[in-house]
Amino acid sequence: NLPLAELDPEIAQVLKDELGRQRDTLEMIASENFAPRAVLEAQGSVLTNKYAEGYPGRRYYGGCEYVDVAENLAIDRVKSLFGANYANVQPHSGAQANAAALAAMLNPGEKILGLSLAHGGHLTHGMKLNFSGKLYQVAAYQVEEDTFRIDMDKLREQAKAERPQVIIAGWSAYPRHLDFAAFRSIADEVGALLWTDMAHFAGLVAAGLHPSPVPYSDVVTSTVHKTLAGPRSGVILANDSERWAKKLNSAVFPGQQGGPLMHVIAAKAVAFKVAASAEFKERQERVLEGARILADRLNQPDLTAAGVSVLTGGTDVHLVLVDLRNSALDGQQAEDLLHSIGITVNRNAVPFDPRPPMVTSGLRIGTPALATRGFGGTEFTEVAEIIALALKGGSSVEELRARVDKLAADFPLYPGLEG
Ligand code: PLP
Repeated sequence: NLPLAELDPEIAQVLKDELGRQRDTLEMIASENFAPRAVLEAQGSVLTNKYAEGYPGRRYYGGCEYVDVAENLAIDRVKSLFGANYANVQPHSGAQANAAALAAMLNPGEKILGLSLAHGGHLTHGMKLNFSGKLYQVAAYQVEEDTFRIDMDKLREQAKAERPQVIIAGWSAYPRHLDFAAFRSIADEVGALLWTDMAHFAGLVAAGLHPSPVPYSDVVTSTVHKTLAGPRSGVILANDSERWAKKLNSAVFPGQQGGPLMHVIAAKAVAFKVAASAEFKERQERVLEGARILADRLNQPDLTAAGVSVLTGGTDVHLVLVDLRNSALDGQQAEDLLHSIGITVNRNAVPFDPRPPMVTSGLRIGTPALATRGFGGTEFTEVAEIIALALKGGSSVEELRARVDKLAADFPLYPGLEG
């Protein structure tokens, strides 16, 4: 029963160091967030000890009376949050939710049509080294070379030519809303199912600040840890419970997983409760405001003169895609430069990127974590200015680092937590 610091000082030190890193830097990786302390508490709890294969009320293990309560709360809360009739809260991750969703929707050898990875799609939407690219025939759609947006008329023609069993809406790097009604109509026209992966924008949907894919899609999957700010994990939703409940449940367990992570499921329940609150909605408004401020600043003439611009000229969501194809900096150099001043982002290929995937010509910059930390318009304006100065080469690293340090100090993260 020794505490971590005594039993394993090396790992205790990792926790301390990572907490320090999160506190002292500005987190702008679009897929990351800071889970509330209550989520950390539920996730680091005795529920990790419990095996509970099966579903509430139908387990293959005894002693599940309390974890059943947690799972039922998570299910009820997420159904109500998104207005869905069915939910499965057991997927360990977004990728596993996606694997189960596809397994329930089509057979190996049949065809999926999703956004190309190089144009903002996800690995699980048909990348050749991923299970999705190995198990299924893959057709991919792209964004347009002039607008960087998906052209729904072209997608309709492609769907008619490809005749996929499943059409995938959803992305990891795309700064605009998707037209879910058009996706639905295309799927209906070619007799395909529509699966939406809202991993990135689920928090915005929960807050009512982004169109919901739920009414239009056969199946919706999501992660819980990005804009939703919960524990790392996945969830699956559907409207037609009669058609999908059995298939999706058995695709998750026993199809993909054994015992569910009950500590994580309890933490999901907490996150879904938070996501239904007025505080969460206000936070998501700041997420969007911050992204708009950033996009606007990085699209000004002084940046364009330095070869830096914003893909699609702006954003509807929590992230901005920076185009560095004409900049002296490539994606790797820009990521390293921002890292040196205390801002964490990830380099990201832009569509039609001339540089290799490990280098890239773009950055993906997100605002959810800083909004969770408390940032509003004033702070996002300052962050945008710091990033602009860094990318156009206008200031010293020391000066910019000092401005970052001030913002970090003004918005303490997890006060009282010791790692
Ligand atoms: N789907 C999308 C659209 C994503 O962006 C991601 C994560 O990057 C995932 C699924 C996978 O989530 P996880 O990393 O939890 O497997």
